[in-house]
Amino acid sequence: MSSQSYMERAEQAVLHTYNRYPVVLDHGKGVYLYDVDGKEYLDFGAGIAVCALGYSNQAYKDVIREQSEKLLQTSNLFYNVPAMEAGEKLLRASGMDKVFFTNSGTEAMEGAIKAAKKYAYLKDGHTDHEIIAMQHSFHGRSMGALSVTGNAHYREPFEPLLPGIRFAEFNDFGSVLEQVTEKTCAIIMETVQGEGGIYPADKTFFRKVRELCDEKDILLILDEVQCGMGRTGYMFAWQAYGIEPDIMTCAKALGCGVPIGAFVLNRKTAENSLVSGDHGTTYGGNPFVCAVAGKVFDIFEEEKILEHVQKITPYLEQKLNQLVEEYDFLTERRGMGLMQGLVVSGRPVGEIVSKALENGLVLMSAGADVLRFVPPLVITEEHIDEMIRRLRMSF
Ligand SMILES: *Cc1c(COP(=O)(O)O)cnc(C)c1O
Repeated sequence: MSSQSYMERAEQAVLHTYNRYPVVLDHGKGVYLYDVDGKEYLDFGAGIAVCALGYSNQAYKDVIREQSEKLLQTSNLFYNVPAMEAGEKLLRASGMDKVFFTNSGTEAMEGAIKAAKKYAYLKDGHTDHEIIAMQHSFHGRSMGALSVTGNAHYREPFEPLLPGIRFAEFNDFGSVLEQVTEKTCAIIMETVQGEGGIYPADKTFFRKVRELCDEKDILLILDEVQCGMGRTGYMFAWQAYGIEPDIMTCAKALGCGVPIGAFVLNRKTAENSLVSGDHGTTYGGNPFVCAVAGKVFDIFEEEKILEHVQKITPYLEQKLNQLVEEYDFLTERRGMGLMQGLVVSGRPVGEIVSKALENGLVLMSAGADVLRFVPPLVITEEHIDEMIRRLRMSF
């Protein structure tokens, strides 16, 4: 069957909420993807920053097979060992206190918002608390997560959304201060904005927000769905800043391909928010995805993924900086670790991404004008050289 007819059948069956690239992917090996016609692609997208270990990792495949032969789903009415182990590993990696497993990043945001609202409610009994979120942020498409997503175009058709959401400019502390009221219960932001265009938090901004939260007992919710799990060279990007969240969300590379997310609470929040009956999920924390997430933490240690990212990042940065120097339409590189963006000026980013695909390179865009580089964390210098070669052909 030709890829053309697969695409036509897919468009017949699947609701068209995505403008997809004309490629039907079939399988992956290492950091390469292959389509149904056997064409090879070097992958600098990782399924949107998910497949941190690349494809076909043996230990990863083994745990999937082993757990699939034991038990996939228990419901949360019972205990299961993989959830306990994955939870312990996530807490050890973050230094936080309690975890709730979800099925996605969006659902993790929903839980984080509920935990913050409950914390504030227990404090003063009011039900009109406000949340400050950032412009150009992305937190998901469900009604709660969408309410705190700083993109009016995404929000508008679905209003009214959650009341009491105020937007501030990311990396502008004055604009955050302007939005603070007596009712503010939480400030939500990505440590490194992803979809909005790869903007790392500014150190001083970040410190001031943390101090403001401490002073007023506002909860700091950090969305680590995209920038977490080793992508920046730290397990969680906030660890690079020496600042701790009250609530953290993660997903994407937490499962490296199986659908799992989590919201994680520090002690203060865990002891004063959600209790029995406040929140739930049928699938969340099931033994299948948790066995995989637990193994992901093990593989990160065995394969020294964090050290590798820290070691290889300067090479990628240097190669991208060279492109900025060389090409007038590339105006800036920014990012942290293996989460990098090149700002494109005066040319549509989508055209470059399409050209790159033709040349066997998977890239993604971010925001309106940024080429995004979020490869599997296991890439080598040779892969980076090859990416640069294929990218140059696409300019
Ligand atoms: C992808 C993403 C989400 C949403 O996660 P899903 O798993 O798609 O629901 C939330 N926040 C950030 C920062 C993301 O990049």
